[in-house]
Amino acid sequence: MGKFELISLPYAVTDLEPVISAQTIGFHHGKHLQGYVNNLNTAIEGTPFEEMELEEIVRKASGGTLNNAGQTLNHNLYFSQFRKAATDNRPTGELAAAIEAQFGSFEAFQKEFVNAGVTLFGSGWVWLSADNNGQLFITQETNAANPILRGYKPLLTFDVWEHAYYLDYQNRRPDHLNALWQIVNWDVVESRYRA
Ligand code: MN
Repeated sequence: MGKFELISLPYAVTDLEPVISAQTIGFHHGKHLQGYVNNLNTAIEGTPFEEMELEEIVRKASGGTLNNAGQTLNHNLYFSQFRKAATDNRPTGELAAAIEAQFGSFEAFQKEFVNAGVTLFGSGWVWLSADNNGQLFITQETNAANPILRGYKPLLTFDVWEHAYYLDYQNRRPDHLNALWQIVNWDVVESRYRA
């Protein structure tokens, strides 16, 4: 067994339906993420990266090691930020106040975030992150990049690689991104913000 293991999901594979099907979770978590973890373990074997935490590998590696470490980190954050769908699902507390201060309203933030995902050309991730002062940023990151490479703390991410939505939504990336708001676990996102 390698150093890194596939993360366990904090929900059942059917819990995110109909926003994300059990079939998509099965492929996305069980095949795609498992593949990145396996490739990462192979890439770091016998190298100094074997002694490093995942974030440090992302900060220091390049090439295939960076790509597989970045995808492992991105998916760990992605899969751990969801829960069963709820109506009127929205942030509370400090994070809600910061979102309103930065973007005007939660609805304005949602619109800007989805637009960043829709307009990201090709494969990548849209992120909400914070700097050391708690200021919020929406960024588009291509391929396997993570906002820690900008010095930001990653809070929330939507995966816009086609493997994240194609089985359920085919080419309708905007429909997929808009549906994801129902299953965001804002308690997790808020705890990342306060950490
Ligand atoms: Mn993915």
